[in-house]
Amino acid sequence: NIASDRRQELKDPSVNGEETPEPDSASIAASIQYHAEFTPLFSPEHFDLPKAFVATAESVRDSLIINWNATYKYYEKMNVKQAYYLSMEYLQGRALLNAIGNLELSGAYADALRKLGHELENVAGHEPDAALGNGGLGRLASCFLDSLATLNYPAWGYGLRYKYGLFKQLITKDGQEEVAENWLEMGNPWEIVRNDVSYSVKFYGEVISKPDGSKEWIGGENITAVAYDVPIPGYKTKTTINLRLWSTKVAPNEFDLRAYNDGDHAKACAALKNAEKICYILYPGDESIEGKILRLKQQYTLCSASLQDIIAHFEKRSGKPVNWEKFPEKVAVQMNDTHPTLCIPELIRILIDLKGLSWKESWDITQRTVAYTNHTVLPEALEKWSLDLLQELLPRHVEIIRMIDEELIRTIIAEYGTENLDLLQHKLKQMRILDNIELPDSVLELLVKPEESSAVDSIEEVEVSDEETEPTDEEQSEEQDTNAKDVVTFEPDPNLPKTVRMANLCVVGGSAVNGVAEIHSEIVKNEVFNEFYKLWPEKFQNKTNGVTPRRWIRFCNPVLSEIITKWTGTDDWVLNTEKLSTLAKFSDNEDLQSEWREAKRINKIKVADFIKEKTGYIVNPDAMFDVQVKRMHEYKRQLLNIMGIVYRYKKMKEMSPEERKARYVPRVCIFGGKAFATYVQAKRIVKFITDVGTTVNHDADIGDLLKVVFVPDYNVSVAEVLIPGSELSQHISTAGMEASGTSNMKFAMNGCILIGTLDGANVEIRQEVGEDNFFLFGAEAHEIAGLRKERAEGKFIPDPRFEEVKAFVRNGVFGNYNYEELMGSLEGNEGYGRADYFLVGKDFPGYVECQEKVDEAYKDQKRWTKMSILNTAGSYKFSSDRTIREYARDIWRIQPVLLP
Ligand code: PLP
Repeated sequence: NIASDRRQELKDPSVNGEETPEPDSASIAASIQYHAEFTPLFSPEHFDLPKAFVATAESVRDSLIINWNATYKYYEKMNVKQAYYLSMEYLQGRALLNAIGNLELSGAYADALRKLGHELENVAGHEPDAALGNGGLGRLASCFLDSLATLNYPAWGYGLRYKYGLFKQLITKDGQEEVAENWLEMGNPWEIVRNDVSYSVKFYGEVISKPDGSKEWIGGENITAVAYDVPIPGYKTKTTINLRLWSTKVAPNEFDLRAYNDGDHAKACAALKNAEKICYILYPGDESIEGKILRLKQQYTLCSASLQDIIAHFEKRSGKPVNWEKFPEKVAVQMNDTHPTLCIPELIRILIDLKGLSWKESWDITQRTVAYTNHTVLPEALEKWSLDLLQELLPRHVEIIRMIDEELIRTIIAEYGTENLDLLQHKLKQMRILDNIELPDSVLELLVKPEESSAVDSIEEVEVSDEETEPTDEEQSEEQDTNAKDVVTFEPDPNLPKTVRMANLCVVGGSAVNGVAEIHSEIVKNEVFNEFYKLWPEKFQNKTNGVTPRRWIRFCNPVLSEIITKWTGTDDWVLNTEKLSTLAKFSDNEDLQSEWREAKRINKIKVADFIKEKTGYIVNPDAMFDVQVKRMHEYKRQLLNIMGIVYRYKKMKEMSPEERKARYVPRVCIFGGKAFATYVQAKRIVKFITDVGTTVNHDADIGDLLKVVFVPDYNVSVAEVLIPGSELSQHISTAGMEASGTSNMKFAMNGCILIGTLDGANVEIRQEVGEDNFFLFGAEAHEIAGLRKERAEGKFIPDPRFEEVKAFVRNGVFGNYNYEELMGSLEGNEGYGRADYFLVGKDFPGYVECQEKVDEAYKDQKRWTKMSILNTAGSYKFSSDRTIREYARDIWRIQPVLLP
């Protein structure tokens, strides 16, 4: 009956303009039972939690598929312009509560499950996190999908379906250990495999020229990328967009049956494994050459399969003959960082080699279609690939990249002329896509003036003297910057590697380049890509990141949400976060204050329970919960935090019990975050934090006054517990190094007060919530270079408190692990590389003094609660709805499309 009801329902989907009836708890319960019975993933005898989760998810998925199909069909019918977001990472987290929340069916599902003997919360807790990401960049992509669907923008996400995600973090007595995260073990009820949507992706091979002058990329290794679709529902709308994840498998006919039957199973299965391993994990180790090849294969698979798919859509929708000129009017491709850079040469390759367009047409179309979001200003993190490796793996793409590079060189020459070769050399050094690679002959010819050509063999030896050229002041300073030599050489340095600079390719090939917070976008323009900014100022934009208020307040913090709805008079704030600002006028109201504190306490109790479950430590929910959760990275300075904690501990130990009780507010210091598997220093910091915890948490003198916990395996679900229950959160990166941060926004929204430096989005958060409601310390971005120089020259005099802490650690208070390397790195002693590059020592005194102010503020709970309310009230700008509207308007030029 249920099956035939479903068939009946499917006969009149609302795409025909008819309303589908709202499911009630009875029909939902029937649907869950139906799936428990007919979805053949579990044995029939039990209806336990894992099975209840899958059956519930399958039942929700039915509704999502109906909406997905309606959305897809409507976009196709209207032939709307669509945005495609390409990202190597999506940190989706769990989907069940989000989906039923967006469908406004949470109550109905809770009732239905209760009828079947389960609590919704317990069922939802059985969903594994879809952890296809590493940190903020991946979570941003996921927040964007939620906003795109909610705001009814025609858009899709593309990514890879990593079988084992990133890794699962275990915390042992040795610090962090990584094990494979088998998130698909029990199947994934949210994905829909599209066996009919698959594309061939080629590696290696060779490029041949055909008699008509066209090129063909032949031979090599071919694999198949298959589409797995994950429906993304919007909040209070029927619009359901798509996250299309590619999984790789062996190309048809590549299985070597003969070898298999001959008993050479390894040979027979080699192609199989070779294809499948591309999508095993995110960011496989890339120290080995094999690791590098694998990463490049991942990036190219994402780009090639997605572009083939986008082009297939476009062709299908545009009818025959295809007017390729219209491609940028129908398609916008956003590259989330440089990982999808290869979509630039891939689009050109498809247009030229497969669709027969000219170079000029293809280059023009590509530049109008693609845009790039920069996420890092750390020079070492700007992606580069060895030219030889690229050449071997993607020979046709290297030809195309060479053409783009040549096009760029010509633009630079047209702009700056050939009079001042010093200047030209500087510009080319900064801007070329191909680094340390000879200039194309055709360009060299441009550089040699006719009268000189007989006198010099090649331009590499042209002597530039002051008499020949009179540089302007600006040029002169540029010359000094680059240490210009007497001899201008365009010859590659044989001692340096030949590389392809992906970020430069993105800037050149993209219609827009954006940073992700105001301060970061300024650094992008004025430092990292300054030469490009001078050439194409109009390309550069800022799009301050945002986070979805659905997942990050409404669903993860129901108690606070209720209070917000009550005091703002409507639940409209979930869509229009400006309404949160209404709370400001009640920030002194005693009723609101006491409700607010009660909500925080409820959330803190959840955190305390969670800590007990995950670490065994018992913490007091009346202590201040002070949280730093984010990827473990030196620039994020978890080390500064833990050094501050050690200082606090040391001081406490030196005081009488009465004195320390009077002086300090009890605190639970909570850490969480994964260190990249090969990042030794970050792993040392994890070990340090856990060692401090072991000592402090068992110190009877200290008791509840200080606890230090490291929550293992930080992910979206952990964040959803910790963020609502935290009171102080730390965003303390070395100024100028954090592009934006997004957890800072989530904490502020949930009424948590931030301690931080003037970095990334902290700057804007502080502006919005008010300076009095943000604990600021530390050197500013413009001071950092000077401070590092001073540090390197040995002129820095460390604060005695910092010296005290290092000595304390070295004394073995926290066990017998060798902390010499960690402490030494803060001093820049010989053998420790860059002397305290992240300026922990410099910012330490400001940090501990700021923490003292935090204690004082917390003692006055009325003041603290007011600050907390004002953080939520002031956080409305940081909704990803605002960010997405800006991308849609300024970069993608797409319009919301409401389904009929
Ligand atoms: N990891 C997870 C699981 C997150 O939820 C977030 C953001 O909330 C991040 C990383 C990024 O954190 P941050 O902005 O502090 O770097």
